[in-house]
Amino acid sequence: MGRAKTAPTRILILGGGYVGLYTALGLQRKLRGGEASVTVVDPQPHMTYQSFLPEAAAGAIEPRHVVVPLRRVLKRCHVLTVRVTKISHGEKKVTVEAPDGHQEDIAYDVLVVALGSVARVMPIPGLAEQGISFKTIGEAIYLRNHVLSKLDAASSCADDELRRKLLTFTFVGGGFAGIEALGELEDMARYATRYYENIEPSDLRWVLVEAAGRILPEVRESLGVYTVLQLERRGIEVYLSTLAESFEHGHVILSDGTEFDSDTIVWTAGVKSNPVLASSDLPIDDRGRLRAKATLQVDGVADAWTAGDNAAVPDLSRIDEDPAALCAPSAQHAVRQANLLAKNIVAVLRDREPKPYFHRNVGSVATLGLHKGVADVYNVKVKGFIAWAMHRGYHVARVPTFNRKFRVVADWLLGGLLRREVISMGQINNPRAEFDRVSRA
Ligand SMILES: Cc1cc2nc3c(=O)[nH]c(=O)nc-3n(C[C@H](O)[C@H](O)[C@H](O)COP(=O)(O)OP(=O)(O)OC[C@H]3O[C@@H](n4cnc5c(N)ncnc54)[C@H](O)[C@@H]3O)c2cc1C
Repeated sequence: MGRAKTAPTRILILGGGYVGLYTALGLQRKLRGGEASVTVVDPQPHMTYQSFLPEAAAGAIEPRHVVVPLRRVLKRCHVLTVRVTKISHGEKKVTVEAPDGHQEDIAYDVLVVALGSVARVMPIPGLAEQGISFKTIGEAIYLRNHVLSKLDAASSCADDELRRKLLTFTFVGGGFAGIEALGELEDMARYATRYYENIEPSDLRWVLVEAAGRILPEVRESLGVYTVLQLERRGIEVYLSTLAESFEHGHVILSDGTEFDSDTIVWTAGVKSNPVLASSDLPIDDRGRLRAKATLQVDGVADAWTAGDNAAVPDLSRIDEDPAALCAPSAQHAVRQANLLAKNIVAVLRDREPKPYFHRNVGSVATLGLHKGVADVYNVKVKGFIAWAMHRGYHVARVPTFNRKFRVVADWLLGGLLRREVISMGQINNPRAEFDRVSRA
């Protein structure tokens, strides 16, 4: 039996990240009662404000405050905590897997694909066993506790070689995520050394490896050069135009012949489109992204929309210089595209024309630790404290909901008044260890 003609249109949003959350927020605001139902599907019950992950890792922001609970803010939507495994747009259904492992199909009328990106992993020996990426709140919490627990382990380590390995932290990839994570964690660990009698800041070794000849491709080259100089001034070793060749057993080998042991390997060498798309019947480009029109409709397909990191959206602001220009994977584009996406879906439901996406990149801001940053905004380059303050100001204005803004500002004020908290909760990374030990005693 077909659906009643008057039944509300079923809108299904895959992914509850920047695009998914902002699209759902826009739809629940704009849709009339009974016009459409909105369902958001994500294996996490929250949206992660990824730009704050470095500060969450450094302890400047409480981790719970950089995520936005989907059920709490999407009161007029249905939220399903399941993972999409297959998209069959021809049959207007997606297959999802629940946390208990069972699979089921969800039918829809209109699809929004906002599955974002995943870490681009290379076949480097030892990477899968030793590495960790930096994209989720779990990874940020893990790294904070991991780095601080290495200081604890090193402080009572009698073996010099092992101590050096424990205190060596390697980051691969010089984009925003890698540089901000490195900058914040190094800053935090250096601060923490004041509480250890036998660890000096100079005992810590921080290494950045980047395959390209520069870092931070999102800002102008001169600002990238400035950032390298700042990192080096802090004692961080920066290897440009260098490839990581092996991480086996925590022994790092670089393409210039450099070798050292490192107990921490953070892999931030770029992202690729969500692999679920490769097994869908939707059109993808050579980099696995959904081919999109400027209106954010999936190219050549009815009733399918997309935006964000998993979409190849034409960048109309650069079309004169490069007709094939595409929007870069950034939060800046994701949020703006999502706002337009909600408007366009409502327009089409009401038989109006969708509008094309146009946004001229205004620049970027990045944090490099407490009171340190770089920014390149409206063609003005800014460094140091002012850039850091701009980073905080920009992102607190962007983080969704007043509730989160308030909590983040409160965290910053508390940190300023009571100083940083640098206690290691390394036990969180293996919470059953203590119970296991007493059970076996
Ligand atoms: C550490 C870090 C710092 C960053 N800093 C900045 C910055 O300062 N400025 C900036 O512009 N950009 C920044 N970015 C990039 C920015 O966060 C991304 O461009 C943005 O998140 C893209 O939004 P999205 O909605 O496409 O993807 P996401 O926000 O990643 O959302 C994708 C969602 O899909 C869900 N999902 C994944 N697989 C499935 C599945 N199989 N089924 C269902 N759901 C699934 C995920 O759980 C996630 O919630 C940063 C990224 C990182 C990692």
